[in-house]
Amino acid sequence: ALSIAGLHKSFGSNQVLRGIDLSASDGDIISLIGASGSGKSTLLRCIPLLEVPDAGTVTVSEDSLSPEGGRLTRGQETVARRMRGHLGFVFQNFNLWPHRTVLQNVIEAPLFVQKRPRAEAEDEALALLEKVGLAEKRNAWPAHLSGGQQQRVAIARALAQRPRAILFDEPTSALDPELVGEVLKVIRALADEGRTMLIVTHEMGFAREVSSRVVFLHQGVIEEAGTPEQVFGNPSSERCRAFLSGHF
Ligand code: ATP
Ligand code: MG
Repeated sequence: ALSIAGLHKSFGSNQVLRGIDLSASDGDIISLIGASGSGKSTLLRCIPLLEVPDAGTVTVSEDSLSPEGGRLTRGQETVARRMRGHLGFVFQNFNLWPHRTVLQNVIEAPLFVQKRPRAEAEDEALALLEKVGLAEKRNAWPAHLSGGQQQRVAIARALAQRPRAILFDEPTSALDPELVGEVLKVIRALADEGRTMLIVTHEMGFAREVSSRVVFLHQGVIEEAGTPEQVFGNPSSERCRAFLSGHF
């Protein structure tokens, strides 16, 4: 479904990603873990080219880009937009449009980007809101929802684009502890449906349970990768071991 090869990204003299290779087949659920500043968000943002790599190749479905020097040419921009359209994102801070209702948030991209008929977009949006348990909030304003509810709307919105893969960047870390469970439950249901997902998370128990693969990033390189059993049960990297011991 997507892959990254030889990815490098620096901010000034700060080499944040130093040669990342990663690929997700359809149905893979990859958890990205690592210390603060290890480059997890930057890596995630490079996939939809929200951050443009200095070197390396990003492939999403049939499209591939190998940008140079951290910039896209005009021709590459067109490809990047198409790649972006195949991906759903869910960020830490929900990022719902505050002046649009729940339903309007969910139908925005299907309607105006994908140009689907309104009736179809609305029907699908309502079904997705049903799925995340928020159909009755369809006319509410985001500000009137709890953080957990807002994040579930954000997930419905990501799904509404019919993405090939969904990228999550710490989807529960801005939530009060009692709201984390309801969001993880929704992500778990997506896992059961066989969705392809990349999840940056500090919820190690969750990562262990849902992932097909766990990737531990350290200073911009993949220091350890494997099945949850390998990475959590018997990591070969001392750094990974130390990181995990701080999280259980
Ligand atoms: P956290 O767990 O805290 O979210 P992270 O692993 O997601 O950390 P990144 O956000 O990818 O880490 O940041 C990696 C490094 O890149 C940090 O040193 C950060 O300061 C730097 N960085 C990230 N984005 C930018 C940017 N837009 N401009 C300059 N530096 C950046
Ligand atoms: Mg981050």
